[in-house]
Amino acid sequence: NGRVTDANPTSLDLPGWRHVYSGKVRDLYRPTDDTQRMLVVASDRVSAFDHVLSPGIPGKGILLTTLSLWWFDRLAGSDGGRSIPNHLAASHVLTRGADGAANTPDDLQNLIPDAVTGRAMVVKSLDMQPIECVVRGYLTGSGWAEYRESGTVCGIPLPAGLANGDRLPEPIYTPAYKAPLGEHDENISYERTVDLVGAERAAELRDLSLEIYERAARTAEAHGVILADTKFEFGIDENGVMTLADEVLTSDSSRYWDAAAWASGTTAEERMASFDKQIVRDWLAANWAPPREGEPPALPADIVERTTARYRELLDRLTAA
Ligand code: ATP
Ligand code: MG
Repeated sequence: NGRVTDANPTSLDLPGWRHVYSGKVRDLYRPTDDTQRMLVVASDRVSAFDHVLSPGIPGKGILLTTLSLWWFDRLAGSDGGRSIPNHLAASHVLTRGADGAANTPDDLQNLIPDAVTGRAMVVKSLDMQPIECVVRGYLTGSGWAEYRESGTVCGIPLPAGLANGDRLPEPIYTPAYKAPLGEHDENISYERTVDLVGAERAAELRDLSLEIYERAARTAEAHGVILADTKFEFGIDENGVMTLADEVLTSDSSRYWDAAAWASGTTAEERMASFDKQIVRDWLAANWAPPREGEPPALPADIVERTTARYRELLDRLTAA
């Protein structure tokens, strides 16, 4: 499960940093001197159904990091909204130099080793909340599967007659419990999040998630892209502030569709022409029967190429002036 092979090594020898953890897609390092920062390195690894696949998607780590940084900047206020605290280590939260002057972003950039340039972020190490904060504006994936069974998504009742890929009357917050390594994340009710983190923090997570989703969906829409759903992670910083962490609004953590195709498409497939790893999920679903144990089949070159092209197109579209 989540196996890593020679094609996608998880740990590099990075000067000034010590490897501490590898997830399916990202590798974490801590500084060899202080513990307030972390280096999050995005690899080209791609996962589906909780398995790391081979080969990786060339350039994916850079594309997703670029997209994350672009969104953090929007959400810090460049989209015209209020500033959402995020985990990027900005100059003012870092140490000061010997002369007392605050380190500049350039100094920060210098902390990123050449070997991972473009796919690493220096972040504040946070007390992570054990909740994946999912927001859905459209019905698909596991939400669609549940709706077909029961007319609800994560227990939230929805109007009858919705089809796969339909827009929801309003975005809904459908949290999941962030399972320990190797276990599947599990959809939970809002009440359960209150049990896990307390009423105040639970409400904060929900309200922040909905606010960020709505802002991001508006931005995406202005670029002809639908943000169908997405997942955020938050952590608490040293001052007790709820802080947006992890990657944000990337094509790994979100479903993005082409707005024009969605509007004109008649089949679910046409409507959900995606800029995310749905291409990989669909291929794997068709070529690897459940229970999906052992080694997954290798991704064919054309699937890898199409995925790379779609990831790049998403970035180009969103960041186009
Ligand atoms: P999965 O492979 O299922 O995604 P994962 O989420 O544990 O597992 P990655 O996403 O590859 O693995 O690694 C990123 C990890 O870093 C996550 O566990 C995430 O919660 C954690 N993380 C992200 N930002 C911070 C931060 N600022 N402080 C502490 N931990 C963080
Ligand atoms: Mg993750």
